Amino acid sequence: MSLENLGIFIDGQVMADANLATIDVINPATARPIKRLIRGQAAEVDAAVQSARKTFETKAWRRMPTAQRGQILLKISEAIRANEEHLATLESTDVGKPIAQARNDVRTTARYFEYYGGMVDKVLGTTIPVRWGALDMTLREPYGVSAQIIPWNYPLSMGARGIAPALAAGNCVVAKPAEDASLSLVELARIAHAAGLPAGAFNVVTGYGQEAGAALVRHPLVSHVTFTGSVATGSAIMKMAAETIKPVSLELGGKSPNIVFADADLAAAAAQIARVIVLNSGQTCNTCSRLLVDKSIHDTLLEQVLTKFDQVRMGDPLGGADMGPVISAKQKKAIEGFLATAEQDGATMTRHGHPPEDSNLRDGFFVRPTVLNNVRPQHRVFREEIFGPVLAVSSFSDEAEAVTLANDSDYGLNAGIFTKDVERAIRLAHEIQAGQIYVNGFGTGGSVEVPFGGMKKSGFNREKGIEGFLNYTQTKSVTFHFKTE
Ligand code: NAP
Ligand code: MG
Repeated sequence: MSLENLGIFIDGQVMADANLATIDVINPATARPIKRLIRGQAAEVDAAVQSARKTFETKAWRRMPTAQRGQILLKISEAIRANEEHLATLESTDVGKPIAQARNDVRTTARYFEYYGGMVDKVLGTTIPVRWGALDMTLREPYGVSAQIIPWNYPLSMGARGIAPALAAGNCVVAKPAEDASLSLVELARIAHAAGLPAGAFNVVTGYGQEAGAALVRHPLVSHVTFTGSVATGSAIMKMAAETIKPVSLELGGKSPNIVFADADLAAAAAQIARVIVLNSGQTCNTCSRLLVDKSIHDTLLEQVLTKFDQVRMGDPLGGADMGPVISAKQKKAIEGFLATAEQDGATMTRHGHPPEDSNLRDGFFVRPTVLNNVRPQHRVFREEIFGPVLAVSSFSDEAEAVTLANDSDYGLNAGIFTKDVERAIRLAHEIQAGQIYVNGFGTGGSVEVPFGGMKKSGFNREKGIEGFLNYTQTKSVTFHFKTE
């Protein structure tokens, strides 16, 4: 079968050099190849970085009037909205996420460009009182070339989470999407340039992390690195960035808890607990994959959660299923490996939902929503990020034990607290070591406005919100001396 090559996007153009090696793009719902990616290497990365640096040094982007730069980002946002169905279809097919979720991701992507487009001309410096005879002011300057290493679970929206503020602050970007899901990001670059972004401002090089990704992080003309993905790769990237003292922003996932007390609205809690496990087949960094529940309501709550999981219809992501496949055969195997060891350790496993009936999906990488009950805190399913639709359940006797269990993790991305006791919610929000705390719900209700990031091994620095913009600027202080007599 002859497959079309997806180009790489350098210097404002799609380049589909037929002489370069390629990687098959697999549709995870059918396990069949649908396209080919160019396997970018150091030479392609160098061309992209040179183009980004050249654009950074000309008047084309950072030196244009700030209002104009903002307007281009707003135009990109409009173009993303106009292409919603096209981008959502690409994302749904490539990642395996239900089309409704993919549409939502596209809207979030548009919001990033809108939000940061509106911020371009509003981030101010300060004047600092030093002494009579001197005037000091600060400037917020872009770094130069921003490298964005993007994961496969939310390529568009997580891509935009870093790309939009980096561009807004005046940087130029080279992005390396994951080889498992690159289609939408190349398309985003094309749409952004058609909407008025100058050539070289946003480049995309596809390929493997070890090749294109590492070459990008190491490139001497890259000045800042943003990475979302696993702890192991994040650590490797920090080491590579250390060679040339590049600042890095790391978002490394989590093993987040939902903590449910006896006084909570159990029906509302059960709905949220199940929803986040089903969302993107559990492949979301802030999935609350541990359920910590008060012993006295353990059975009642669990019954309600299992009822929700039993209703999940798995199937064609483009056809209205509640849950699609996981990203790859490798990911499915890793998840099944976790499940086998949990059962050996004495956890009780139940599997739920309706697997797809369509014979076309027979080989797809589907994993049923799975609950592991009575999980010991020592076990790896309590400690490690599984990144699949798996909920690990443990119980506690009192608030102190709940806090101890919640914090008994190398990760610290987020936590959910379900209780009607406001004082307890405030106390726990302070006690729990995590970058985000959700009380009686999941998420923030919006998506781009609130700073997001981790504590402990979940990473450092914040994306989203105003902090997300500042992350792409460096402060310069300028002092004027004047004669006083
Ligand atoms: P990963 O290795 O962390 O990959 C994330 C990104 O980094 C991809 O674009 C990857 O490219 C790239 N990369 C890999 N090695 C690199 C290197 N040496 N230098 C520069 N870039 C490099 O994640 P994965 O292997 O795809 O998934 C493994 C686990 O990571 C998952 O099971 C999950 O636990 C975790 N994960 C977390 C998140 C999150 O949102 N926090 C997202 C994705 C994965 P290639 O994939 O093309 O090699
Ligand atoms: Mg990978």
